[in-house]
Amino acid sequence: MNGNFTRRTLVKGCLVAGALVPVAGLFNSVAYGDSPALDPSEPTAKALNYATKSAKADATCANCSQYQGKAGDATGPCAIFPGKSVASAGWCSGWVKKGAT
Ligand code: SF4
Repeated sequence: MNGNFTRRTLVKGCLVAGALVPVAGLFNSVAYGDSPALDPSEPTAKALNYATKSAKADATCANCSQYQGKAGDATGPCAIFPGKSVASAGWCSGWVKKGAT
């Protein structure tokens, strides 16, 4: 083994690698917008009664103030569920009509 390889070098390498992993994830989601779909069975989603298909025709994620997706997209980000995408046809109890606030 190389005599210059020390425990300090290993620790430094691990710290740098650990710092880069979240940064790489940030660029990945920003560049590709491929946040994983919110699973309705996740605890927070369940607590807010999230469903991928709203039971109310006039209240869906697409017209919710928390929805950050583009009009016409099937899914998009939601401020309530960071890092996840929600169905534009979905709904949860955090729904507030877009433009009402
Ligand atoms: S707060 Fe609820 S209803 Fe509004 S966009 Fe997010 S998941 Fe959909």
